[in-house]
Amino acid sequence: MSLATAPRPLRAVLIANRGEIACRVIRTARRLGLRTIAVYSDADARARHVREADEAIRLGPPAAGESYLAIDKVIQAAQRSGADAIHPGYGFLSENAEFVAACDAAEIIFIGPPASAIAAMGDKAAAKARMAQAGVPLVPGYHGEAQDDALLRKEAGKIGYPVLLKASAGGGGKGMRVVESEREFQAALDGCRRESRAAFGDERMLIEKYLTQPRHVEVQVFCDSLGAGVYLFERDCSVQRRHQKVLEEAPAPHLPEALRREMGEAAVRAAQEIGYVGAGTVEFLLDAAAETAQGSGSPFYFMEMNTRLQVEHPVTEMISGEDLVEWQLRVAAGLALPKAQNELTLTGHAIEARLYAEDPDNDFLPATGKLLRFALPLASADSHGRVRLDSGVEAGDTVTMHYDPMLAKLIVHGEDRGQALAEMARALAALDISGVTTNRRFLQRLVTHPDFIAARLDTRFIEHHHDDLFAAPQATDADIARAALVAIDQLTRDQLARSHIDGAPRTDDPWQRRDGWRLNAPRRLRLAFQETDGSSTYEVIATQALTQGLAQEPAQATWQLQVQRDGEETSRLAEQCQRLDSDTLALTLDGHRQRLFARLDPTSEGDAIVLTAAGQESRLIWRRADRADHLPQEAEAKLTAPMHGTVVALLVEPGQTVEKGTPLVVVEAMKMEHTLSAPADGAVEAFHVAVGDAVAQGDELLAFTNAEAMTNAGADTSGDN
Ligand code: ADP
Repeated sequence: MSLATAPRPLRAVLIANRGEIACRVIRTARRLGLRTIAVYSDADARARHVREADEAIRLGPPAAGESYLAIDKVIQAAQRSGADAIHPGYGFLSENAEFVAACDAAEIIFIGPPASAIAAMGDKAAAKARMAQAGVPLVPGYHGEAQDDALLRKEAGKIGYPVLLKASAGGGGKGMRVVESEREFQAALDGCRRESRAAFGDERMLIEKYLTQPRHVEVQVFCDSLGAGVYLFERDCSVQRRHQKVLEEAPAPHLPEALRREMGEAAVRAAQEIGYVGAGTVEFLLDAAAETAQGSGSPFYFMEMNTRLQVEHPVTEMISGEDLVEWQLRVAAGLALPKAQNELTLTGHAIEARLYAEDPDNDFLPATGKLLRFALPLASADSHGRVRLDSGVEAGDTVTMHYDPMLAKLIVHGEDRGQALAEMARALAALDISGVTTNRRFLQRLVTHPDFIAARLDTRFIEHHHDDLFAAPQATDADIARAALVAIDQLTRDQLARSHIDGAPRTDDPWQRRDGWRLNAPRRLRLAFQETDGSSTYEVIATQALTQGLAQEPAQATWQLQVQRDGEETSRLAEQCQRLDSDTLALTLDGHRQRLFARLDPTSEGDAIVLTAAGQESRLIWRRADRADHLPQEAEAKLTAPMHGTVVALLVEPGQTVEKGTPLVVVEAMKMEHTLSAPADGAVEAFHVAVGDAVAQGDELLAFTNAEAMTNAGADTSGDN
């Protein structure tokens, strides 16, 4: 049945949110024939969700309180645009009972549960009491009314330490503290009360047994307004940092079928107990310790219910083949659930990774900036592909500091968990993103961690594996050698690009070439790299191997590479590099051919060469000698044309030794002469140009050998050695 002719007709929907979830809702609403209306703050006037909606209405200034959280403004926007319904997404107003009441008063359909259901789950203590009534298992604990210190301490003792103190009115991990022993109890209680009073204006506490190795397993439920309720299986969201989910997967690994059913049915009971309508999530803690002890009763405990669509809903969509936003819209229109419990099937395995604009190596500091590149070549936007990218941004967009730093969600589906993991590693590697720091490398370390691969999960996974996940980057010789080949490839391409700009005819005549090729003399480069944190510096001396007859195209040449770490030569490698397409290279390192993705991210210290091979990312800063802003002070030894022009004089002979400051070449441009002088004491090994040649800005004019060392990075030096 069409939504327009449903019991509660839907023709136009306003999405009271932004970013990826607004884009996600727009996609399904449009497919179902609805007119879509976005809202925006001034910071989002040109945001992707605004561009994608049919219409968009300005709410106000960037601050969420004056825009996305301003109930009256959102209601007015719905009235003005003639929206029949409001989809709140997640966060913002999605679990705000007052907002639901305002929608009701304005006779606009709120796409979500009734205000009473939100309120019932809003208070943790009250919710636990209701759940106990419905026969949903609870973590052993205390959630009573009486709150005097002595009584709470006695209850904690009865439960047995460690215990967890939680603010009854809490959320987002605030007002929550683990207490290891009775001695710490009073101080923790005082601290929690203070936090809770400040954050929620309420200081009631509840106490729970603190489970030391729990998994976070949550069940997706759906209820319609006609009284039916189903569960769409579960998700494991154990990988969290500071109670924020990072990876989510469905189904939960190693969950016995009987337990799946038991948890699913308990979740539906929980929802129906509070008269729930729409999409909801019942969160449980699965006690990994009890799980292994046979016959110890239900090892799962109710934690809370989220009365909205979750960030991680796509993994459920992938294993169930259902579109949860479509279900939400149908239920809101007063229609029955599309499927009954026995019609729902679970196929394969799905994993989601949250891509944040943040720096995991710097305490997850949010990052801002302009996204120069943002694409995932393998992704499809619908839930039927194996790789899905739900994103609220595109290349060219600016990430601001006003809102949540989540850029996108990467979701993959495989026939089993192993295949999904492989798919995720591949997709993370293929993600082409630059301009803004992201947690991609952290995600890669997570999904390739042996304990994650083995599904040894618990909510302190990141904490327990801290050393592996935050290891200081240390490039291997092979990493450095690979980066050197990418740098050489880039230098070669820059040079080709320049000769095109120049308009110089491209010819295979070696005498016309200005890329450093010369007869019987190997081309030699020195390249400088450093770790992104500046902890180590590396140098590579690359010598192009001589081949019979004419030299090969530089991009396919074989290079002998000497890797030096802090001045010590560590290895010699023979490598060959072949560019396959704009971001894929085939590198052969001592006979081992590997395909890898390579990209250059500009940074303040130099270009970061980001390489991804076999799902692992390595990152090195290339201190490029032909970029003044990347140069260390002493490295001005490059001798490139300062502008487009004509060579009018060569002032010394090839092979001549010169002192620093000796004039070497004169270039004329726009009737002005510019003289290039020797940057240091040394020798002019060869000129790459002759009098009368046209040169482009940046062209290497000659090969110069510094008396002390060779000329720095990127500049050709002739074939001594
Ligand atoms: P909030 O509403 O503030 O997010 P929750 O009650 O949802 O608080 O708990 C947040 C997280 O804290 C859970 O995902 C879980 O990782 C951890 N947690 C909650 N209760 C317990 C418990 N009894 N034992 C161990 N960990 C818990």
